[in-house]
Amino acid sequence: MKLRYERELIVEYGKKLLSSGLTKGTGGNLSLYDADSGVCVISPSGIDYTEIQAHNVVLIDLEGTQIEGDGRPSSEVSMHTIFYKQRDDVRAVIHTHSPFATTLACLNWEMPAHHYLVALAGPNVRCAPYATFATEELAKAAFDYAIDRKAVFLQNHGMLACGGSMEEAFYIAEEIEFTAEVYWRSRAVGQPTVLAEDEVAKLADKFMGYAPLTDRRSR
Ligand SMILES: [Zn+2]
Repeated sequence: MKLRYERELIVEYGKKLLSSGLTKGTGGNLSLYDADSGVCVISPSGIDYTEIQAHNVVLIDLEGTQIEGDGRPSSEVSMHTIFYKQRDDVRAVIHTHSPFATTLACLNWEMPAHHYLVALAGPNVRCAPYATFATEELAKAAFDYAIDRKAVFLQNHGMLACGGSMEEAFYIAEEIEFTAEVYWRSRAVGQPTVLAEDEVAKLADKFMGYAPLTDRRSR
């Protein structure tokens, strides 16, 4: 079995998406990119995260051709591969319909740096314009609006987070969902203060300095 470790990470983090409340049932999708072999390892379509096994996880090349795995690749495969084709810093992508990020996405709001953890993803989180699910148009909108960011809201749909490892992409998805909830709560009762631009730049440097988030390889 090729890329067993990466397949197992997809299984493990799929379960974490459920246990952390970032998704339900078969919602959302996640992938990794192995730059050495040029292979994208992606969650299968239509299998509950509690049921996915390593052999169901799909290996594809960046043109979407299936190499191994007995599942069907996630229908949002283009929204993953576009990042690996065009960004060297991205090695993992997570797409969720988590409730608070999706609430802001349905309002077509961007989220400013009202909380220091927003700076994990960028100076703000933009909202990409609506496009039908599982289309090249949606993949391009997500990519364009996340071009210099690690997270983006997808209008009337959900959220996408990315990072240099699965651990990092998951951490960003969790923290952006948390900050989206806080932003929603704050806007429900008032107008949250937003951090100054130079402070956000300082935070971005500080987060870069930690760089704690690389997938631990056991092989
Ligand atoms: Zn979706």
